[in-house]
Amino acid sequence: MERLDIPIRYVRGIGPKRAELFSRLGIETLEDALYYLPKRYEDRRSFKRISELTEGGNETISGEIIDSGIRVTPKKGMKIFELIVHDGTGVITGKWFNQPFMQKVFRIGQKTILTGPVMRSRYSFGWEIENPEYEIIEDNDRDTIHTGRIVPIYRATEGLSQRHLRSIIKGIIDNYSQNLPEFLPEYILNRYSMPPLPEAIREAHFPDHTDSESLQQWKGPAYQRLIFDELFLLELGLALRKGKGSIEKGIPFRTDSLLLDRLRERLPFRLTNAQERVFEEIKRDMGLPYPMNRLIQGDVGCGKTIVAIQAILIAIENGYQSALMAPTEILAEQHYINIHRTLEEFGLKVSLLTKSLKEKERKDTLRQIEEGRINLVIGTHALIQEDVRFKALGLAIIDEQHRFGVVQRATLRKKGINPDIIFMTATPIPRTLALTLYGDLDISIIDELPPERRPVETRLFNEPMRSKVYLKVEEELKKGRQAYVVYPLIEESEKIDLKAAAEMSEKIKKIFPHRRVALIHGRIRPVEREEIMDSFKKGNIDILVSTTVIEVGVDVPNATVMVIEHAERFGLAQLHQLRGRVGRGASQSYCLLMASYRLSEEARRRIQALVKTNDGFRIAEEDLAIRGPGEFFGTKQSGLPDFKVANIIRDSRILEAARKEAFSISKDNSSLNGHPALKEALERKWKGRLGLVLN
Ligand code: ADP
Ligand code: MG
Repeated sequence: MERLDIPIRYVRGIGPKRAELFSRLGIETLEDALYYLPKRYEDRRSFKRISELTEGGNETISGEIIDSGIRVTPKKGMKIFELIVHDGTGVITGKWFNQPFMQKVFRIGQKTILTGPVMRSRYSFGWEIENPEYEIIEDNDRDTIHTGRIVPIYRATEGLSQRHLRSIIKGIIDNYSQNLPEFLPEYILNRYSMPPLPEAIREAHFPDHTDSESLQQWKGPAYQRLIFDELFLLELGLALRKGKGSIEKGIPFRTDSLLLDRLRERLPFRLTNAQERVFEEIKRDMGLPYPMNRLIQGDVGCGKTIVAIQAILIAIENGYQSALMAPTEILAEQHYINIHRTLEEFGLKVSLLTKSLKEKERKDTLRQIEEGRINLVIGTHALIQEDVRFKALGLAIIDEQHRFGVVQRATLRKKGINPDIIFMTATPIPRTLALTLYGDLDISIIDELPPERRPVETRLFNEPMRSKVYLKVEEELKKGRQAYVVYPLIEESEKIDLKAAAEMSEKIKKIFPHRRVALIHGRIRPVEREEIMDSFKKGNIDILVSTTVIEVGVDVPNATVMVIEHAERFGLAQLHQLRGRVGRGASQSYCLLMASYRLSEEARRRIQALVKTNDGFRIAEEDLAIRGPGEFFGTKQSGLPDFKVANIIRDSRILEAARKEAFSISKDNSSLNGHPALKEALERKWKGRLGLVLN
């Protein structure tokens, strides 16, 4: 019996040369080949007659080659290879542009299959099909691999034709699929009526089913089983890790806190029910002798910070230090400004640690952190530098956690001995997805905004309407409100962008001569930046022209209007975050998007989504749909593995089932006793990569 992980070149009939071609397709081992699933299927049980074709359809026909040749277009001199095929009912011309080598592929008298969009011939009788996928049928094709059935179409590569690849894969399946060990417990197979693994693999490649509608995206029961496998192994890994995590010892905090009571007394508002509920969940976790790993999801402006501060006070009162990490200097500074005064009144010490600290200040701060004299450190990535050592870190909070990589989050955790950790994010994602991505976290959701918040009115404008935009800004300023004008800053064109932002600021000064205008961006010295933000906060600046440095965290409730220049250049999540800077008080706020007339299809969808809704969950879903999961999560960032067959959006139902089963197994039987094949599959599949998922 062959092992499944043997390199493909040792498989009979392949050898080193062909193995190289396989490698280009990502097939390195025998197992890879078995799992190299078709990109689509084609129904070749019967072909459409040429006489019955319809204009514009994507069709598959079969016939005999009666002529071929290369034609050169008179004007541009383009070479077109033409193939004339006849099926007894009509004639069709296959056309390939600038690929004269195609001539060597076909011989007159051969039978062929062509698939592609068909249209009526413009210059002669019959039909045309441009750049079709093709396949030559040999006379000895009696084995019904390539025709007379539903046929798999694979992603092929130069030097390895579709039919060649198909033959090889068929051979591999026939010889080796029975070697695939069944690793799913029988009760799971029965519960979801799934076929055994060898059968699932055979069926997924060469289906015998008869339902032929929409074969293009067809994913039959066999395919579904393979999707289940992939998601199940992921979830099982997560479940086992999570189980292991809870055995680790953590700090059992006392959660009745005098400081907390004092803070609550002086809050200028009442917490929303959602804030109270989430804080209770945190308090319960903090009281347990295990490390807390909790993700707080909540839309922009829902008030996550105050929930975090309460947890910080508990940790401090228990004699431990806290750390609050933010993705940008501006946000860290904002948190510092908002938090330090109150805490200092309680007699606590708060420090800001960013990379713009002077060497001497930095050394000083580091020493005090190590001696335990600083109770709360607020900072950026600077917090996780090697030389930052805490005396007793009890609680770490990671704000806007989606901006951090897996490794950074893990590094902060290691600054203490199993500290409690709170992750916060305003990029909400559907629940099953969240559970998978953050499978070893507990999730709390703040699904309520403070009362009297009104949805921000969002409108799209273009250049000729610019004066209207300024009128609206002036209208708000007259009421004593403040405004943001945001300019995109793309890293690759940073210099040009900064210049444009500066010019914009000059222009705004001319248009609003009686208003106080300031410019802020990441290249301004931190001291100055703090001054500008402070004075905007105090109402001494009317219009703040800014790059995206204000994207997260900035909180000035009196600002009620935001103009976003070149809105088409921003991503959807980013636009939503930016817009979240207004609408933070009780009065109606506005977000005015300036974009060019001509928008790409994607840009249009982004902007439409933003105009249509203020709901962060719907925005996130739309964003996911536009960009696809790969880009949305950034596989590397999230620690999520690449999937071969599953698509976590499309297959969300299967994901739910897989998760349920995985967690149930791991709960009853965390060492997987009696499931040796499952244990092995788990190890083979993830090869230690699982260790990276949200460490
Ligand atoms: P985010 O969740 O986006 O981080 P913040 O924590 O910055 O939101 O809170 C947004 C604003 O709402 C802040 O000005 C904060 O003081 C205020 N806020 C928080 N909770 C409440 C509440 N329950 N009622 C009224 N205002 C609140
Ligand atoms: Mg925030």
